[in-house]
Amino acid sequence: MTDFIVDPVVRRFRERHYAEVEDAQWCDWRWQLRHRIRSLEQAEQLFRLSDSEREAIQQRSRDGGLPLGITPYYAALLDPDDPEQPLRRTKLPRMEEFLRSGDECRDPLGEEAHSPMPGLVHTYPDKVLFLVTDFCATYCRYCTRGRMVGQGEFLPEKHMWERALDYIRERPQIRDVLLSGGDPLILADGRLEWLLRRLHDIPHVEFLRIGSKVPAVLPYRITDELLQLFREVHPLFISIHFTHPEELTAEVRQACERLADAGVPTGGQTVLLKGVNDDPEVMKALNLGLLRVRCKPYYLHQCDPIEGSAHFRTSVARGQEIIQALHGHTSGYAVPTYMVDCAGGGGKVPVGPQYLQERDGDYLVLRNYRGEQTRYWDPISSPPES
Ligand SMILES: *Cc1c(COP(=O)(O)O)cnc(C)c1O
Repeated sequence: MTDFIVDPVVRRFRERHYAEVEDAQWCDWRWQLRHRIRSLEQAEQLFRLSDSEREAIQQRSRDGGLPLGITPYYAALLDPDDPEQPLRRTKLPRMEEFLRSGDECRDPLGEEAHSPMPGLVHTYPDKVLFLVTDFCATYCRYCTRGRMVGQGEFLPEKHMWERALDYIRERPQIRDVLLSGGDPLILADGRLEWLLRRLHDIPHVEFLRIGSKVPAVLPYRITDELLQLFREVHPLFISIHFTHPEELTAEVRQACERLADAGVPTGGQTVLLKGVNDDPEVMKALNLGLLRVRCKPYYLHQCDPIEGSAHFRTSVARGQEIIQALHGHTSGYAVPTYMVDCAGGGGKVPVGPQYLQERDGDYLVLRNYRGEQTRYWDPISSPPES
């Protein structure tokens, strides 16, 4: 058994609501998955729900949309009384989720149009996105794939994966396979091993990555056995979805450290969310916290225009301000690239902020992090020999 630290915040919650549960169960990731908070009755026992939250949970259980699902571990981090607490807003639905506005749609990135077969999205030339399951440990209310995740929580059959593997095998240009979903790390060790080894054995696949929120919502999943598997399929990178510095508990820090010790480079991916993390101080605390556990903030994503996400979306200008407040003011390693993912499969576009202001003859006019204008000599034609 892998030993896990239990954070004091988590311990107090456990004593209050799960006093009869033994350590070995609490720290068993399968126990955590089986005991997720999924119903209104369970949610009522842990949180003082607002009318909007209660109604939204009921409506979701009727309409079959993105379900409620929270691990007991992560429930410990949610404020039982305050519906406005950032982490709680990202996990408990509220009625705004049923409003439609502007250009919102089910599949804003056009993933279905770029999908050669169920489970694969091939938008870019040399990399492919492989959606290996629709199941997540904890559902985020702003999920880009809210249209498909959690629908019956399917665990794919090997023959579906075989077809995707054939597609990759037949295309030598694919050198990078990104496993996502759903969350690949909810798969049992045996299934994950089967898949990772087959991908690792394809000669032209030189780089594997997993996109996951599990280290943040179910850190007990990062067991010694899993780490041993990761060591055998390198180079494997893991992008971890983080939202807020309050997620960086003792167990999450330990999980990140263990991944790093197993030689897995980790990157942080964060969705910019109104009232949750759209604040330079919050983002700085998150990113510096990630660096301390050897996780490099990789992307800050503009929230995709999925249906019912207006209450989460900020302006792009706000995102640029946040990046500007980081760049130069703290370690460059703590500054992610801010990305807008374009409609209809246009792909991700880095959107600044803009430091290059204009060209003035043979000079570029630049603005530095303190807002001062400087000039850089960058001749249009090559300079004459001297
Ligand atoms: C984001 C994404 C990737 C990975 O992009 P990187 O910029 O290399 O991290 C690959 N495929 C699809 C469809 C994506 O949306």
